[in-house]
Amino acid sequence: MLVMKFGGTSLGDRERIDTVVALVRSRLPRRPVLVCSAHAGVTDLLLEGARQAAAGKPDLGAVRTREEAILRSLKLNPKLVDADLERLDQMFRGLALLGELTPRSLDQVAAFGERMAVKAIAAVLRRRRIPATAVQADEAGLVTDGRFGRATPRAETYANLKRALAKVDGVPVVTGFLGRDQEGNVTTLGRSGSDFTATILGRALAAEEVEIWTDVSGVLTADPRIVPDAQPVENLTYAEASELAYYGAKVIHPATIQPAVEKGIPVRILNTMDPAAPGTVIMPVRGRRKARVTSIASKRGIHLVNIVSGRMLGQSGFMAKVFDVFKRHDVIVDLIATSEVSVTVSVDDPQGLPEVVDDLREFSTVTMRESASLVAVIGERMRQASGLAGQVFSAIGEAGVPVLAISYGATKTNLQIVVPTERERDVVRALHNVLFE
Ligand code: ASP
Ligand code: MG
Repeated sequence: MLVMKFGGTSLGDRERIDTVVALVRSRLPRRPVLVCSAHAGVTDLLLEGARQAAAGKPDLGAVRTREEAILRSLKLNPKLVDADLERLDQMFRGLALLGELTPRSLDQVAAFGERMAVKAIAAVLRRRRIPATAVQADEAGLVTDGRFGRATPRAETYANLKRALAKVDGVPVVTGFLGRDQEGNVTTLGRSGSDFTATILGRALAAEEVEIWTDVSGVLTADPRIVPDAQPVENLTYAEASELAYYGAKVIHPATIQPAVEKGIPVRILNTMDPAAPGTVIMPVRGRRKARVTSIASKRGIHLVNIVSGRMLGQSGFMAKVFDVFKRHDVIVDLIATSEVSVTVSVDDPQGLPEVVDDLREFSTVTMRESASLVAVIGERMRQASGLAGQVFSAIGEAGVPVLAISYGATKTNLQIVVPTERERDVVRALHNVLFE
């Protein structure tokens, strides 16, 4: 059993979809199960459409045009998605009447991109004589918690999916990205969440491998838009991949790795535009690679929260109090750096952050910086490499960039440095230069 996940660009037009069909055909002996994203751009159109609808302008035009164009280019009957478009149309009108958009209705709308895409892909496969059936993941038992926009699967999901897929005829073509909570509300696993669906299915089916088909040839030593001569990385350990995923959401979704880790399933990242390229395989154990550092990643849009308490000195319980506030508002903290009288944390999803700051201000002085970038040097071998931190900091110093915060966790897999966003590229280039060239 093999899980093959195709992202939006892999399903973006007729030519790409032809490649997808050929890839599926070549893997039929391995009994593939497909996971599909929405066609490129459709999720964005849906989200924008929902916002417009709630603002009083319900208009399904853009979504309808895009879907029908794809179906026509594939020579499929546009009627295939009529019922979905009809339902969406009703929902947009409902949103316009209500004049508000809840996270719950946003998820319900967003899920339609995948719902329609699997119908098209299954139909194309059947037309090319590969038996296939479209499967809606929520109907097949992908049950999640009720956190709209960032749901995670509940334990029973795995057995549910295994049972449901055993009954499917031909190649199952499963919707990525979506699930359903225990009350029956549609949920989504977060942007790019189809990768997550792929490993959830991999775990459910004890797959031999999960293939993530995307538009890049796996992981590189740095973002090629910043470092044009970045090199491909052949293999990554799960720990490295989890660290990287947080920054490189372009390659894999952060939570993706977890279900694969639990079952020791290799996850291979491959490029639909260059199917012969070896890609990057993420494995439980390390390959033979010798490099001290695996990759340099970065992420902008980081909020840095500085919490200072005059009374922290020699006091116990302050940290607990601080993190309790974050927990209360369900705000995820990424990097943490502390000194004797202050704590600095980075947050990348600011939902709930204003409430956190209000509460923190009841017992401390808080300052915020909203345009920071996190640069991370990642590699399990860093642990054994002496002098590496020295090299990193002198390179940043020579580039004349101020360091806003640093964190180097106990596992020594990820050295994180926060810098002003306008200097992010300089830092990545300087580090790539000293660490790889
Ligand atoms: N279609 C969803 C998104 O654009 C999920 C995915 O592509 O993985 O975020
Ligand atoms: Mg994606």
